[in-house]
Amino acid sequence: MYRTHTCGELRLENANETVCLSGWVQKIRNLGAMTFIDLRDRYGITQLVVEESAPEEIRKQVAGLGREFVIQVTGKVLERASKNNKIPTGDIEILIEKINVLSRSEIPPFTIEDHTDGGDELRMKYRYLDLRRTAVRKNLELRHRMAHLVRNYLDSYHFMEVETPVLIKSTPEGARDFVVPSRMNQGQFYALPQSPQTFKQLLMVAGFDRYYQIVKCFRDEDLRADRQPEFTQIDCEMSFVEREDVLNIFEGMIRHLFKEVRGIDLPALPRMTWHDAMEYYGSDKPDIRFGMRFVNLTALAQTKDFAVFNSAEYVGAICVPGCANYTRKQLDELTEFVKRPQVGAKGLVYVKYNEDGTFKSSVDKFYTADDLQAWATAAEAKPGDLLLLLSGQKMKTLPQLCELRLEMGNRLGLRDKDVFKPLWVVDFPLLEWDEETQRYYAMHHPFTSPKLEDVDKMESDPGAVRAEAYDMVINGVEVGGGSIRIHDSELQQRMFRCLGFTEEQAEKQFGFLMNAFKYGAPPHGGIAFGFDRLVSMFAGLDSIRDTIAFPKNNSGRDVMLDSPSEISEEQLKELGIKLG
Ligand code: ASP
Repeated sequence: MYRTHTCGELRLENANETVCLSGWVQKIRNLGAMTFIDLRDRYGITQLVVEESAPEEIRKQVAGLGREFVIQVTGKVLERASKNNKIPTGDIEILIEKINVLSRSEIPPFTIEDHTDGGDELRMKYRYLDLRRTAVRKNLELRHRMAHLVRNYLDSYHFMEVETPVLIKSTPEGARDFVVPSRMNQGQFYALPQSPQTFKQLLMVAGFDRYYQIVKCFRDEDLRADRQPEFTQIDCEMSFVEREDVLNIFEGMIRHLFKEVRGIDLPALPRMTWHDAMEYYGSDKPDIRFGMRFVNLTALAQTKDFAVFNSAEYVGAICVPGCANYTRKQLDELTEFVKRPQVGAKGLVYVKYNEDGTFKSSVDKFYTADDLQAWATAAEAKPGDLLLLLSGQKMKTLPQLCELRLEMGNRLGLRDKDVFKPLWVVDFPLLEWDEETQRYYAMHHPFTSPKLEDVDKMESDPGAVRAEAYDMVINGVEVGGGSIRIHDSELQQRMFRCLGFTEEQAEKQFGFLMNAFKYGAPPHGGIAFGFDRLVSMFAGLDSIRDTIAFPKNNSGRDVMLDSPSEISEEQLKELGIKLG
């Protein structure tokens, strides 16, 4: 037997028991009269002690130990003279009677403790060592726990977990596909799924009624801090449901997670239409932990001789509470901020509504105090507040104002990581016009149902058609999204036509689905949550990387495996691939 207890288990009640532990040597402190060893495993750390008077054999063995050796020790549990109240085993130590070295270790490339000296790249290369650190392991334990809670919750509502294939067919659904060459069908390729979307719909046609899967998805996109080329979704689909049914079940799931994991009782989730989200927050994923909703000042601002505003399609403002005392320098910083290429505004107009009721603005040359008072009234500003205005093309200015609002939220400390404000964003447009390719794209995906009352406009005014689509947004992050689907092959064909597919193209790519719809498709809908993101939010992390056991770096590389990598001439030949 390698162990009677784990390294996190022993307490004062165990004093005088003879126990056996196995684990990794985290630290050795030789104080002359005594040597202390911190022994670590997944469950915790237990202090081992060897006295100067111990048999020579043991003292010798201890002298030969190094960091990260794997050892097994037998000994007696003693009450510690000086207790450590920072760890659960801090009341006791083990007086070593026998040591067995199970595995030696080279000196590790960084210290494996909460505060490590290892840089990012090094820790990624030796990820298995980084995973020994409590801080990293904790995130994976949380991930496990959340997956377990999700499974139990969905199981209790009769969702069935079904695995869908990973080698599928390349279909354009937003992002680029990862493809896998087929040896047996040379010149042909599988694609890795961007999501199991069509399969889960086929499972509904098959009568499975309620499906879920915690599943890997693959998207060959440019990477950002919170993106990985492979990531995990909680993917779900239900039959005989309307939007309301789907929202209820999954609102329940999120509330269950918050309750169990963070001890938070969430109130019912508010709903916001996509239109309002854009109009008041400039984003389809509004952070509603704080106010500063946008105020449309276009009409009020176009009354004087200020060409910048007069030529703008939209003039919008946020009212920043209590910031009328901002200095020249602070205002310059904000102007610099909005002019950064990532934000892209041309300039910033400010209006200080001073405590004494007077106004001071960067456009005093053009507007009177009465004009500015009218703006302040429209923005419900109080003396002491600061108005910040951006102007330009509406669909460009809204996201810029969104960046500015978030920046002000940060500056004022209004974006507390431990405060959670989820909401549903609903009624997305069905289609999105792309200037570059001069065609419409499905905003969600081509299987999303238009709102029935808008179906008539699909041909005459496609841009105005709203979809039965919804996103769950928490603190400015989209954590999940889904829709009620089209379950009628006619309507699906119409949708493909709106997207500019010819009959043949639609048939070639999605014939299997439209065919299936000919054999009795139930009304259905579903949703998918980004599991990595959800875990990172619950863990209070900025990146999803540390919720994944073996993540890729920002260039999509696995630095531990050194992948992607070249393959041999032989493999290429077998696959019938010639490199350019
Ligand atoms: N398949 C969709 C996605 O990955 C989610 C859904 O519509 O259920 O975004």
